[in-house]
Amino acid sequence: MVENERLRQEMRRCETELQELRANPGVPCLGCEHSQESAQLRDKLSQLQLEVVENKGMLSELNLEVQQKTDRLAEVELRLKDCLAEKAQEEERLSRRLRDSHETIANLRAQLPPVKYVVKTVEVESPKIKQALSESQSRNQHLQEQVAMQRQVLKEMEQQLQSSHQLTAQLRAQIAMYESELERAHGQMLEEMQSLEEDKNRAIEEAFTRAQVEMKAVHENLAGVRTNLLMLQPALRTLTNDYNGLKRQVRGFPLLLQDALKSVKAEIGQAIEEVNSNNQELLRKYRRELQLRKKCHNELVRLKGNIRVIARVRPVTKEDGEGPEAANAITFDPDDDSIIHLLHKGKPVSFELDKVFSPEASQQDEVQALITSCIDGFNVCIFAYGQTGAGKTYTMEGSPENPGINQRALQLLFSEVQEKASDWEYTITVSVAEIYNEVLRDLLGKGPQEKLEIRLCPDGSGQLYVPGLTEFQVRSVDDINKVFEFGHSNRTTEFTNLNEHSSRSHALLIVTVRGVDCSTGLRTTGKLNLVDLAGSERVGKSGAEGNRLREAQHINKSLSALGDVIAALRSRQGHVPFRNSKLTYLLQDSLSGDSKTLMVVQVSPVEKNTNETLYSLRFAERVRSVELGPVSRRAELGSWSSQEHLECESACQMPQPTARAHSAPGSGTSSRPGSIRRKLQSSA
Ligand code: ADP
Ligand code: MG
Repeated sequence: MVENERLRQEMRRCETELQELRANPGVPCLGCEHSQESAQLRDKLSQLQLEVVENKGMLSELNLEVQQKTDRLAEVELRLKDCLAEKAQEEERLSRRLRDSHETIANLRAQLPPVKYVVKTVEVESPKIKQALSESQSRNQHLQEQVAMQRQVLKEMEQQLQSSHQLTAQLRAQIAMYESELERAHGQMLEEMQSLEEDKNRAIEEAFTRAQVEMKAVHENLAGVRTNLLMLQPALRTLTNDYNGLKRQVRGFPLLLQDALKSVKAEIGQAIEEVNSNNQELLRKYRRELQLRKKCHNELVRLKGNIRVIARVRPVTKEDGEGPEAANAITFDPDDDSIIHLLHKGKPVSFELDKVFSPEASQQDEVQALITSCIDGFNVCIFAYGQTGAGKTYTMEGSPENPGINQRALQLLFSEVQEKASDWEYTITVSVAEIYNEVLRDLLGKGPQEKLEIRLCPDGSGQLYVPGLTEFQVRSVDDINKVFEFGHSNRTTEFTNLNEHSSRSHALLIVTVRGVDCSTGLRTTGKLNLVDLAGSERVGKSGAEGNRLREAQHINKSLSALGDVIAALRSRQGHVPFRNSKLTYLLQDSLSGDSKTLMVVQVSPVEKNTNETLYSLRFAERVRSVELGPVSRRAELGSWSSQEHLECESACQMPQPTARAHSAPGSGTSSRPGSIRRKLQSSA
C-alpha cells in the first residue's frame, strides 16, 4: 500500500509536468524529430497508467479475498478449539468413571460374599458402562475426523494464502517494472525538453545577432537621411518663399477665373444654340426626306401598278410523265419579259402580264418593293393562283434549299427592319389561317377546329378584325420557321390527305409590321398577307357530287369574288364586293386604299394542262387589264360572273373579247404584241 501511494504521487507529479508541457505551446515541438517519439512515449505512458489502475483494482480485490479467508480461518480455528476442549472434558469424564468402576470392582472382590452380589451387580452394570464407553469412543472418533477435516481446510486456506502472497509479489514486480518504465519516459521527456530549450536558445541567439546587424544598417541609413535633411533645409526655405509668392498671386485668381468662366459660358451657350437649331433643321430635313422617299417609293409601286400580275412557269417534272401529253407548250419572248406564248390545241396564244418568270427565274425583285411598302406602313397581299400542281405552294413555301416567297419576304423584312433599327423600332407578329368551304380557321390556335368570325372594329374606324385569331411575335427567321412548322403540324393532324386538302383550301400567312419612329414618335402599321390559294381547276358540273361539288363551288365562289374585287379596285368602282367571300372580306383592308397586291399566276408548262393554263392566263390578263380605267374597263370586260369558274370550259374555247390573244412570235400576224396599258394610256 505504501508502495502504491508512492507510485500514485510520482504519477501525479508526472501528470502535472505533462500538463505544463502541453499548456506551453511556445516550445516549438512541431516538426521536431523527437515529437513523434515523445507522442509514442506519451501513448505508452497513458497505457501504463491504465494498466496500473487495472492492477490496483485487481490487488484490492485480492486483498479483500485474503481478508475474507483469514476471517473464515479464525472462525474454523475457534470451532476446532471448542471441539478439542469438549473432547478433553468427555475423555476426562469417561476415564474418571472408568477409574471409579475399577475401584468399585476391587472393593467388591475384597468383600467376596457380598462380592458375589457385587460382581453380579457389576456384571449387570458392566455392559451398560461398556456401551457408554463405545459411544464415547465413536463420538471421539467422529470428533477426530472433524478435526482432520478442519485441518485439511486450514491447509487449503494456507495454500490459498500462499498463492495470494505470490500474486501480490508478482504485482509488486509489475508495479516496479512500470515504475522503471515511467522513470525512463520521464527521463526521455526531460531530455527532449532540454534539447528543445537548447533549440529555442539557439534561435533566439540567431535572431538577436540578425537584429543587431539590421539595426546597424538602419542606423547607417538614418545617418544618411540626417545629412540629406540638413542639405534639404535651404531648398525648403526657397520653396516656402516661392509658395508664399504663389499664394499672393492666387488670392487674385478667383476674380480672373470668374470673368473667364462668364465669357466661356456665353460662348458655349451660343454654340449649343447653333447646334440645336442645326439639329432641328436636320431633323426637319430628315423627316421631309423620309416622307419624300416613302412617297417616291409609293409612287414607283403605284406606277408599276398597285395591283401587279405576274406569271411563273414551273419546270416540267417527273410527275408530268412522258409522251406527247408531257410535251412543253410554253415559250417566252426573248425581247419582252412580260409576254408568254401558249400552244393550245395547236394554235399559238399570247398573253401580256406585268412580268413573266421562266422556271429558272426567281421573283425576288417583285417581292422586295412590296416589302419596303409594307415596312412603310402599306398593306400588301401576295396571292399564288393556279391549278393544282402548277407550283403555288412551291412558289409560296419553296423547299429548304430553295425557299419560297414566304421565307424570302420575311428574310427581307427582317433585314430591312435591321437596317432601320437605329431610327425605328419594329414589332413583327404572324398569324396562320386557312379558309376551307368558306370557314375561317386559326392554324396556330389551341382549337384549330373552331370557326372564326370576321368582325368590324367597334371603334368606328371601319377596320376588320378576327376575334380569337392567334398572333405570335417573331424576332428571327428561326421563329418564323417554328411558327410555320406548328401551323403545318396542326393542318397535318387535322387532315389525313393533306395534299388534297391543301389544294381545296386557301392558306394564309398574315404578317403585321408595327413601327415607331424613335425621333418623331410616328407610328405605322403594315400588313403582309401571303396567300396560297386553292386550286383553280374547274370541276365539271356533271362530274362532281356531294362534298367534292361543295368544295368546288366554294373555291369557285371565292376565286370569282377575288377576281371581282380586284376588278372593282383596279377600275376604281365605288362599290367593291368584298363581302362576297370570306377571303376577300378578311383581306378587305389589305386590298383597298393604298394597298399593294401581287398576283402570281402559276402555270404548268405541259401539253395536258393547256386548258387550265389557258384559263389561268386569261384570268391573269383580265385582272391585270382592269386598271385601264373604270368606263373603258367595264365596257371591255363585260360582266365578271361568279359562275365563271364553273362555266369556263366552254368559255375557254371561244375567242374572248376581254382576253388579248396574241399571235406567237414569228407567226406573221403581229410582229410584237403591244401593251394594253401602254396603248390606252397614250390614247387617253
Ligand atoms: P400546287 O401547290 O400549285 O398544287 P406544288 O407547289 O405542290 O403545286 O407543285 C407541284 C410539284 O411541282 C411539286 O413537286 C413541286 O416541287 C414542283 N414544282 C413546282 N414549281 C417548281 C419550280 N419552280 N421548280 C421546281 N419544281 C417545282
Ligand atoms: Mg399547293
